[in-house]
Amino acid sequence: MESDKTKAAGTSTAEAAKTAVKKSTARSPITTGQNVMTDNSSVNRDYSQEATKEGALYKFFLDGLKDMYFAEKHILEVLPKMKEAATTGDLQDAFEDHHLVTQKQVSRLEKVFKSIGESPEAKKCDAIIGIVKAGENIIKETEEGTMTRDTALIIAAQKVEHYEIASYRGLVALAETLQQDRAADLLHQTLEEEEETDLDLTDIAESSINFHAAEEDDENDNDTD
Ligand code: FE
Ligand code: FE
Repeated sequence: MESDKTKAAGTSTAEAAKTAVKKSTARSPITTGQNVMTDNSSVNRDYSQEATKEGALYKFFLDGLKDMYFAEKHILEVLPKMKEAATTGDLQDAFEDHHLVTQKQVSRLEKVFKSIGESPEAKKCDAIIGIVKAGENIIKETEEGTMTRDTALIIAAQKVEHYEIASYRGLVALAETLQQDRAADLLHQTLEEEEETDLDLTDIAESSINFHAAEEDDENDNDTD
């Protein structure tokens, strides 16, 4: 009885999560600054003061942009290393494609700075440095030419994408709250690219790599028997 309930609850949570992903891709009101930032009576307040260029919210937004400008450039440096380390052609292609996309994202961020009358500036982001470093360690810790390496690389790359998704979602919300519509549009384009990349990586993992990685494990088990 109870397991039925648990199962039903689990299913609906999974469906809710799927719906949430769809909604966010469609740029529903859920992800807009209006809702995220103000749809709560305790924080429902006038942002006009903080929204000015001297305001704290604007400074926080600008800081976030500088953070991502640094992050994207840092990711540009590591993607070729990840491509070189990957075993399968599919994953190599995915890293190469995302390198091109990331180059566009750097230019797009420059447009975002311009749209709010600022010049592009990078600010060192310790978070992305750490996540990228963890990915580089995976290359050292896994054997070249194995599916295990690809599985590990995909997980590492998805951590990068998820960091970017969280950051851009926040920046879109802030841009909307600050009524910087052009900036919000541009940042939303990048957000969608990161979400797409994340899904593509899952597809690659599910289509063959995880299966073959498990096979490799079996082979190793047999070897030691
Ligand atoms: Fe990016
Ligand atoms: Fe990315």
